[in-house]
Amino acid sequence: MIGVIVTGAGGRMGEAVVAAVGAEPDMEVVARVDPALPAAADVHGDLASALEATSARVAVDFTQPHVVFENAVALLDAGVHGVIGTTGLSDDQVAELRERAEAGPANLLIAPNFAVGAVLMMRFAAEASRHMPKAEIIELHHDRKLDAPSGTALRTGGLMEGEVPIHSVRLPGLVAHQQVILGGLGETLTIRHDSLSRESFMPGVVLAVREVSDRPGLTVGLEPLLFGEDQPGGGG
Ligand code: NAD
Repeated sequence: MIGVIVTGAGGRMGEAVVAAVGAEPDMEVVARVDPALPAAADVHGDLASALEATSARVAVDFTQPHVVFENAVALLDAGVHGVIGTTGLSDDQVAELRERAEAGPANLLIAPNFAVGAVLMMRFAAEASRHMPKAEIIELHHDRKLDAPSGTALRTGGLMEGEVPIHSVRLPGLVAHQQVILGGLGETLTIRHDSLSRESFMPGVVLAVREVSDRPGLTVGLEPLLFGEDQPGGGG
């Protein structure tokens, strides 16, 4: 049985993770961490208290950009593998987490998007940009998202050829959507992905919880788990 701490458990993603992990026969939520949750036996106001009270193997973090780095460091220090979905980590912070993960026994997996269709969208966009190098990204999210541009848009642009401008739309009613529009001579190609509910992220989160302990150091993106390490777009 994989014991799992969920940080940000009272948030939109955290709630969905608690339900998805709880539904897996080989996983168990051993602590929910969120200062916004009402008191309960398994609820902790901070991660340090949950780490002390449990012997979890993995923690899943969907919190906020300003707390995710310190949470990830606390997990590595405690020897607990981390699956990080919170976006907004800087390149320097990711580099430091890589060093720390490589130096100790616990592993980290950071993915800006756990939806399988979004991972495929990024892969197709990277491939298309080798043939149509002029492209722009429009990413659209619900209006309570704290960071812009989205982690998914930044990663997509990073995988593509050339400079790729990003446009961010924040509106109520949206969940998480992205269009990559490539322009060529007399033609355009649009690659679009829509997360219509937060359930779209859960198969990827569950896969990451199951596999993170077998992937030493830092893994960025779900690609290595879906396609194998030697495929283009993996690891980066
Ligand atoms: P949310 O605001 O609904 O939830 C965040 C929760 O974190 C809140 O309940 C808040 O109280 C809690 N929190 C704040 N500080 C905390 C701390 N120190 N310890 C524990 N909990 C703390 O946000 P959301 O919509 O659930 O999104 C969370 C993050 O996940 C965002 O960064 C978002 O961009 C990202 N996200 C990632 C993916 C992905 O596939 N990787 C998908 C959707 C959203």
